[in-house]
Amino acid sequence: MPSIIDSLSKSIFKKAMLTYKQQIAPHSYHVRLQSDALKGHRFTAGEHLRLFVGIGRDTAMNSKVRTYSIWRFDATTGTADLAVCTHSNGIGSTWIREVTVGKAIHYMGPKGKLVIDRAARSHLLIGDPSALSHLYAIRSQLSAAQQASGLLYTPDEADYYADLDGVRPFELARLHYDPTQALIDRAEQLKSTLPPALTIYLAGDMRVCQSLGRHFRQNWQHAEVRVKGFWMPGKVGMD
Ligand SMILES: Cc1cc2nc3c(=O)[nH]c(=O)nc-3n(C[C@H](O)[C@H](O)[C@H](O)COP(=O)(O)OP(=O)(O)OC[C@H]3O[C@@H](n4cnc5c(N)ncnc54)[C@H](O)[C@@H]3O)c2cc1C
Repeated sequence: MPSIIDSLSKSIFKKAMLTYKQQIAPHSYHVRLQSDALKGHRFTAGEHLRLFVGIGRDTAMNSKVRTYSIWRFDATTGTADLAVCTHSNGIGSTWIREVTVGKAIHYMGPKGKLVIDRAARSHLLIGDPSALSHLYAIRSQLSAAQQASGLLYTPDEADYYADLDGVRPFELARLHYDPTQALIDRAEQLKSTLPPALTIYLAGDMRVCQSLGRHFRQNWQHAEVRVKGFWMPGKVGMD
């Protein structure tokens, strides 16, 4: 029998259908959702959906919902592409491994704070695999006149799945332990190639985001710094 939380949430969340699922890296799946309620939405790169992944599991509400960035959005068909990683082995990872095409998905959104800065002339994007689709979405909405550089940090090169156009546009930083100093060194090398009116986006491991954010705010005062930690050891289901 469905729990009261499940029944209540189903009536509050909007409903979509999973129309596509493909594993694209050892720890990443590409999925597509379709919902008539998404039709006509004016998508801003950096928005996400909150998915009710914990239906049927006897857990508290905050353990049932997980946030996933929109990789690509089509307002005409009401479809959203997402990339879901499984490094965490939490409820979201279990959900993505088990869910099948044709299943109903309950969601909230789209909304988001780590969104594209359309006014910036240059963009520096830094993240881990959980943030890769988010950074791809921002890159895809930049005009030809805007310049972008990106750094993907991960211990495992296999985590670097390609963007939907087949390219891997970011520099890979294959780092095992705390990658902060190595990322700062690499960013400092890129600095002269990034013209003013620069916005820096930091996403992924909260600890790395915070350390990098401190560095850029102190030392790159000409840049706007936008930060969003996607996960943190000991915390679950961050929004
Ligand atoms: C704004 C926002 C956008 C996000 N977008 C995406 C996205 O597009 N794709 C995506 O996969 N995730 C994204 N996330 C993270 C996602 O919401 C989940 O937190 C993540 O998938 C883990 O869920 P889980 O239930 O599997 O593990 P949880 O139960 O949440 O966590 C279990 C444990 O695993 C750790 N953990 C979580 N993530 C990782 C990781 N990547 N590597 C190592 N350890 C980890 C946690 O700290 C925790 O200790 C986003 C988060 C936010 C806040």
